[in-house]
Amino acid sequence: MKAFCYLGNGKLGWADKPEPKITDARDAIVRVTMSSICTSDLHIKGGFVPRAKLGVTLGHELVGVVEQTGRSISGLRAGDRVAVNVETFCGECFFCRRGWVNNCESDEGGWAIGCRIDGAQAKYIRVPFADTGLTLIPDGVTDKQALLTGDVLATGYWAATLAEISEGDTVLVIGGGPVGICCGECARLKGPARVIVCEADAGRRRFIAEHFPALTAVPPSGAVEYVRNVSAHGGADAVIEAAGSAQSFEMAYTAARPNAVVVIAAMYESGMTLPLPDMYGKNLVFKTGGVDGHYCKEELSLIAEGKLDVSPLITHVFGFKDLEAAYELFSERRDGVMKVGITM
Ligand SMILES: [Zn+2]
Ligand SMILES: [Zn+2]
Repeated sequence: MKAFCYLGNGKLGWADKPEPKITDARDAIVRVTMSSICTSDLHIKGGFVPRAKLGVTLGHELVGVVEQTGRSISGLRAGDRVAVNVETFCGECFFCRRGWVNNCESDEGGWAIGCRIDGAQAKYIRVPFADTGLTLIPDGVTDKQALLTGDVLATGYWAATLAEISEGDTVLVIGGGPVGICCGECARLKGPARVIVCEADAGRRRFIAEHFPALTAVPPSGAVEYVRNVSAHGGADAVIEAAGSAQSFEMAYTAARPNAVVVIAAMYESGMTLPLPDMYGKNLVFKTGGVDGHYCKEELSLIAEGKLDVSPLITHVFGFKDLEAAYELFSERRDGVMKVGITM
């Protein structure tokens, strides 16, 4: 089968690979029906993900149909429509038992799909730990609605949960791209008074106003003052940083009120420093890292109930054979693209 792969030295391209087979009793083979491209794929291309394996098939955001299951998988059958978690995890180790699946101790635990083991930009994918990694898509939820549940939306759900949002809070999300919007939409479900999304791109601010009207999109200039003015205690009660630049990092701790929770969901391309002498006494709580992606079930229930719908983020749909064009459009952020859907 044709697979779109990481070739090293900033290159991606096609390869011919055999169809995957079950290699463990907890595996499943899934026929991909829709996949997407994530900024992390571009990070792999750019060499910023050292553990990415040379030649690996890319793609870790997908929905599909179960084709075959290993011996010990009982809750899934061939023909079931499923969403796939970005992370595969054993469910039994110290970290998994606490929900910290990103740090699963198993060999194929954590972010493996489309990074260390072959991913979704092919007709079939082998999913390890299918009993924890696959979630049935409820009837009435489309592929497009379910596509982002395993990664981008899971990140939003995870970040909003870490942010410890209470009713009446002011929440600041920095970055109005797909991850930021998912953070904002999930934060909204926690009952805050307002969710402000800071985004530099005017087109993206318009996109938010049009498709996600519960979020208030503001530009970076004046954003900190705006947040301080509208919040009850001199700054945001919770901040989610989803932009990933030195400026956005600074905004995260500047716009937060004392004792706020600051969630760093962004991936940076270099180290960040905190002016700890100036911040002494502000007593912020920082929570950092990559998503513990195990929220598909909760998200899909919210989608099925009509409370959550981030499908407008899929602004462009391409066929599998046009994957290169999809990568080009996505990486160059042309034509107002947020996310692309790749149909098989
Ligand atoms: Zn991703
Ligand atoms: Zn584990």
